Amino acid sequence: MTIPDIIIAIDGYSSTGKSSFAKIIANEFSFLYLDSGALYRGVTLFAIENGFIADDNAIDVPALTLAMEDLDLHFGEGGTYIGNRCIEKEIRGMAVAGKVSPIATVPQVRSFVDRKLREFGRMKRVVMDGRDIGTTVFPDAELKIFMTADPLIRAQRRAEEMKAKGTDVDMDEVLKNLQERDYIDSHREVSPLTQAPDAIVLDNSYMTMEDQMAWLKDIISERFGE
Ligand code: C5P
Repeated sequence: MTIPDIIIAIDGYSSTGKSSFAKIIANEFSFLYLDSGALYRGVTLFAIENGFIADDNAIDVPALTLAMEDLDLHFGEGGTYIGNRCIEKEIRGMAVAGKVSPIATVPQVRSFVDRKLREFGRMKRVVMDGRDIGTTVFPDAELKIFMTADPLIRAQRRAEEMKAKGTDVDMDEVLKNLQERDYIDSHREVSPLTQAPDAIVLDNSYMTMEDQMAWLKDIISERFGE
């Protein structure tokens, strides 16, 4: 199946399998995959390591904003990097997961990440996942998908994924974290997580990856006449 040069925006709640789905789409159609959450996670790691988040979770926004001017956060071989240091493992742990949503409420952080994402968007043939891709980053994306799934199923999937990577996890902690992130992401002032009016909802609670791909191919055939 062929597909025109478009941007595919995938948004939705935490741990709905957005990045797994996006990676498979990228592979199937030779698209570039971009994980916007990884950039928010990267800024969060940077903020933790540089002491910009206090013990009571207060963020030193002026110091973080200034420091971001020299922050070389980018994608490279095997994931996300700060300079030449691969930070992929650190950004997937609970320490970062626990602070990323508050960091992502900071408007200066959002514009830092948006600038990077829009540079990639110029290429087209891009599939990007996040929370505000179809609403803010690429409101003109030709195909927008909004993903959701039962919270318990999401927590189970996330816990299994973390266990497989050798991280010890507590199911209750994972469930609590994703519910907290959903809440903060949906209620923040700047670019909250919300379904774009022209997005198509995908509830994958009881769908396999094959089911999701078949669903997508039907939509592509309808929309782009293949
Ligand atoms: O997608 P992922 O779970 O890795 O994203 C981590 C966090 O980054 C989200 O919970 C959200 O707070 C933030 N995020 C965002 N906007 C995006 C992508 C991620 O606010 N486009």
